[in-house]
Amino acid sequence: MPGPVAPDSTARATAEACRSERERELDAANGSAADVAAYRALLEALATDGVAVVARAAGGLPQPLGGMFERDERATRITLVRPLRSWDIDSVRDELFTLAHEAGHFRSWQEGWHTEAYLDALDALNHDPAARAPIDADPGAKRVALGAAQATLIYEEEARAWQFATDQLRALRYPRLDELARRRERSLAEYRLRLGIAE
Ligand SMILES: [Zn+2]
Repeated sequence: MPGPVAPDSTARATAEACRSERERELDAANGSAADVAAYRALLEALATDGVAVVARAAGGLPQPLGGMFERDERATRITLVRPLRSWDIDSVRDELFTLAHEAGHFRSWQEGWHTEAYLDALDALNHDPAARAPIDADPGAKRVALGAAQATLIYEEEARAWQFATDQLRALRYPRLDELARRRERSLAEYRLRLGIAE
């Protein structure tokens, strides 16, 4: 497993350019002071770590996701998926929580939790059509076909990313941790349903 590596200068430059774009969008959006301040602090921390935060519109994706964390040998990237236009932040608070969660996946990767076994489980999940089906469409079709061990790896990573998100926003003295906790619980409940994990 690749451990935490210092981002090279190219990755840093790309991440800083992305940060400037995201800050302009943030300035144009109608966020509360606390949400904007926390969002800005996350962007700064991610750019320092060489993580490029990009944005795209949901069009073309089978099911709108809030965000994605991806990495390869050369770059780490968080993609924010927005409902309508790639430059338009629909809700600063929702997106703050998404960004904090994806930053949690980044930290989890840094700490070495993205093992081969986890990445295999993630690959299997991403190739399972049930993983992206609307959760309320057909109760019989919610479950994905992962085995129990793989389902547990996916669920533990999701819970860990939310825990890191909570830790980070708490460290920033973000005042709406109660709302973050509700978002975290909604998201994890959906994963439990899809993955067939008991509460
Ligand atoms: Zn996640």
